[in-house]
Amino acid sequence: MIYKRSSALFAEAEKVIPGGVNSPVRAFNGVGGTPIFVKEAKGAYLYDEDGNRLIDYINSWGPMILGHAHEPVVNAVIEKAKKGTSFGMPTEIETQIAELAVSMVPNIDKIRFVNSGTEACMSAVRLARGFTGKDKIIKFAGCYHGHSDSFLIQAGSGASTFGTPNSPGVTKGTAKDTLLATYNDIENVKALVEANKNEIACVIIEPVAGNMGCIPPTKGFLEALREVCTVNNILLIFDEVMTGFRLAKGGAQELYNIKADIACFGKVIGGGLPVGAFAARNEIMNYLAPIGPVYQAGTLSGNPLAMAAGLAMLTELNNKPEIFTSLAEKTAYLHTGIAKVLTENNITHTINRVGSMISIHFDDAEVVDFNSAAKGNNDTFKAFFHGLLNAGVYIAPSAFETWFITDALSYDDLDFTIAAINTVAKTL
Ligand code: PMP
Repeated sequence: MIYKRSSALFAEAEKVIPGGVNSPVRAFNGVGGTPIFVKEAKGAYLYDEDGNRLIDYINSWGPMILGHAHEPVVNAVIEKAKKGTSFGMPTEIETQIAELAVSMVPNIDKIRFVNSGTEACMSAVRLARGFTGKDKIIKFAGCYHGHSDSFLIQAGSGASTFGTPNSPGVTKGTAKDTLLATYNDIENVKALVEANKNEIACVIIEPVAGNMGCIPPTKGFLEALREVCTVNNILLIFDEVMTGFRLAKGGAQELYNIKADIACFGKVIGGGLPVGAFAARNEIMNYLAPIGPVYQAGTLSGNPLAMAAGLAMLTELNNKPEIFTSLAEKTAYLHTGIAKVLTENNITHTINRVGSMISIHFDDAEVVDFNSAAKGNNDTFKAFFHGLLNAGVYIAPSAFETWFITDALSYDDLDFTIAAINTVAKTL
């Protein structure tokens, strides 16, 4: 495929935007080459500035669960935009989407909308600290909760891809309050809790990790984590920015039947507009300003365009719950097909999948935590990435990312993808 115009646009962008991108994960530093510039997208396909069509397995890193430019979402935004784009005053649609979200997600009474997943997680942790009166938090190596200071300690996703899991600029004072645990290792969590008795406000976790590839929780791990938190008066925060409204209507809380104390959302809940949210039971949420002491705010929070997109998206998912089954079936089909062609071509691999999240690791050991995820063969991944790109299949330019399956993908698209992987596998 030819990427002449994309390369020229990137060269221009680099002059005025650091690295030419507004978020590092879009860069191709991890795989080599220059990023593709998108012109437009519809359904399962991206169309780039050179006129190439790509089957999209990133889907804006998760939000486009029903495909690009999904009509009910686009129409809702257009209609709202005609009536003004921001007021900084309450609007009815904020209550409508809040009511719908509260009805879909188990175990939450109130929800507050913000502008990104980062803001949601950052605010959830502040709320947990304010509510418990304790300072320290536990996060897991390889989990990513946005780019707020306390989370850039062994962070996954782009931070790992670019070799900066611990970012300069995060003060020692902040870093010392973030304790680091190993994903899927409950004994490690217990030891940290024991060593920091009565000092830990919350444990924040991706209930299915998606930022070191896809890593499911091992059997009993989330249950044990819930128990440790309850016994020690620690709030359990599920970062459902990826999993929320994707794995089930009620996200991972519903899928695994575990009650978190606070749930964070982003991506799907905004239908492709900049939205995040955090939610909990009344007792916790009433700790927030203006009725409680924990401050949190936003000029554009609950923005009417964002709420219109989110409401249209959640309404679709709520009215058609069969979408979640369809997504899981398509992902399972892809899993089986990819495993078959990689095995036939003697490519060492492990595939992890939960619902419509899937990732391929080029290593045959089980991938259960950040260390095992980091063992994947990155040279194989780079060749795999570029081979697929040439064939018109776009996956994330990093081995630490999950593929997000959209319901707009047809079985023909999946067969095309599996055939492309078969061809690429012969070259690896
Ligand atoms: N939490 C998780 C689990 C995420 O995957 C992400 C982003 N990929 C975030 C938080 C941060 O969200 P945002 O990029 O919208 O700030």
